[in-house]
Amino acid sequence: MERLAIYNTLTRRKDEFVPADGNKVKMYVCGITPYSDAHLGHARCYVVFDTLRRYLEYAGYDVFYVQNITDIDDKIINKSRETGMKPADIADRYFNEFMESMKKLNVRPADVYPRVSETIGDIIDFISGLIDKEMAYESGGDVYFSVGKFDGYGKLSGRDSSELVSSAECATGRKGDARDFALWKKDEEFGWDSPWGKGRPGWHIECSAMSRKLLGEQFDIHGGGLDLIFPHHENEVTQSKALTGKDPVRYWVHNGMVTLKGDKMAKSTGNFFLLKDLLEKYPAMAVRLYLLTSGYRQTLDFSAEGLLDVRKAYDKLAGFKKEILQLTRAGALPGAERDEDMVRIMNDDFNTAKAIGEIFKKVNPIMDAVFEGKTSDEDIALGGRLIYFVENVLGVLLDTVSDVDTLEVEDMLRKREEFRKQKNYSEADGIRQQLARMGIEIKDTPAGAKWFKKGGSTE
Ligand SMILES: [Zn+2]
Repeated sequence: MERLAIYNTLTRRKDEFVPADGNKVKMYVCGITPYSDAHLGHARCYVVFDTLRRYLEYAGYDVFYVQNITDIDDKIINKSRETGMKPADIADRYFNEFMESMKKLNVRPADVYPRVSETIGDIIDFISGLIDKEMAYESGGDVYFSVGKFDGYGKLSGRDSSELVSSAECATGRKGDARDFALWKKDEEFGWDSPWGKGRPGWHIECSAMSRKLLGEQFDIHGGGLDLIFPHHENEVTQSKALTGKDPVRYWVHNGMVTLKGDKMAKSTGNFFLLKDLLEKYPAMAVRLYLLTSGYRQTLDFSAEGLLDVRKAYDKLAGFKKEILQLTRAGALPGAERDEDMVRIMNDDFNTAKAIGEIFKKVNPIMDAVFEGKTSDEDIALGGRLIYFVENVLGVLLDTVSDVDTLEVEDMLRKREEFRKQKNYSEADGIRQQLARMGIEIKDTPAGAKWFKKGGSTE
């Protein structure tokens, strides 16, 4: 495919991706509510959209990426009541921890991280505009959106609007219609002044107000997890379109959930483990590769065995880079040339799973040639393109074989070579045994001694 075709939740098919403004792509992804530790489900979402952004750049687009921070909401307030910490301090603490994990996963920061607490004026203006258009109404200090007045509610999620009742908001008893959702919630304790008294924004309105402020009334890509389609994204479309008359988003892109033994990984159910714990146990780059080995729309059922397999695959790619670097005389990769096979695969709905499979198909014969000392210039050029793709598009850096200090191993191998030249085989063998204890195997090939991690070999 010449152009990227991406599955659009709104049209329910793969649509050809054509940004509204030349090669500029405006992208918004729902960010976190920082009130506790992130889990693997969060990591998947932000790795997927980071990779999409990187791929769009690889394909020649210029991407502007906005990700919000919900720094005030019910969960943060509950946490504040439990701990006595200020909501702002809770949000800062967990957002900083989240960013540390993202850095380990080589997720590039978004261009802007708007916070709810810094967008209150724009949110109030947005809600006032909806009230002026009689699409929203005030009731006892709350403001609600009148779902019954909006034509097309349920279009994004594909639900019949008569069944669309959001139970959490149903409980307030101040609404005209059970389907109506809160734009503003009365809150004397944690609220801001507004035309409707002290209060704070409902959850959905922030994304509409922020995206309008930073990306305009219509933008190219809106991303998030599948679980956000209803009610969050449905309500975003509804309130934005009610205000501006335009569909706010051209391509709605949703990633699949991460499950653990078949159940959704979610804080609310306790069925999850913490991202920071996982990143202590496993190399972050192997975790990132693991998250991309399933199609982004598929459910990913986490398994430790699956992650261990991917970790071996990671070691193999890291070993591949090491060999290709040694074969290039200057020790530098052949550059950032695009690999058209990778482009063709990725253009079919951003298929990282298939791209990774294809990379290994191409790497195996080149590694065979390396061991036989028979690599061609084409092998090296292809190797360079693949490594560039893995590191810059998949975002998986290959500078370390997991748990192994590459420089130390190289140094030991050099010493072994010297002993062998001096025909001091017992010392040379001592080094081989020492490496074996570190989990490193050595293979003497016509092209010199090669090393790899046990289990990560090319055989
Ligand atoms: Zn959102």
